[in-house]
Amino acid sequence: MGHLKIHCDGCGSDWIVYHRDDFHDWKARTCPVCGKSIDPGTWDRQVLRAFGEMEDANLELMKDHTQSHGTLFTVGYVPDVIFPNKENTEAVDQLREEVEDLKDGIDNLRSIVEKLINGVFQI
Ligand SMILES: [Zn+2]
Repeated sequence: MGHLKIHCDGCGSDWIVYHRDDFHDWKARTCPVCGKSIDPGTWDRQVLRAFGEMEDANLELMKDHTQSHGTLFTVGYVPDVIFPNKENTEAVDQLREEVEDLKDGIDNLRSIVEKLINGVFQI
């Protein structure tokens, strides 16, 4: 038996709903950090159903393993989010600024070298 891991993009937290927990209680579908909740209809119709199907698949895989003494496989699910590195936006912006500063520095050096080559500056 597995457990259900939920990610809240609102605050960036993850929480786990274990089998010992009441899946139909509002707490199961509510972020313990920021208090935002998954829609109760979506929770019942989609999330719990998908979790149950995944549980059944893993039970079948376990049965295959014990009957054939072959390799045990388990399946999980990794969501493909639209912006997986969203939290790194600030770091990317900072790097972009640094690159722009480096470009400006290179342009300044280039103009100094050109002036030196053209004899504007006397050393
Ligand atoms: Zn949250």
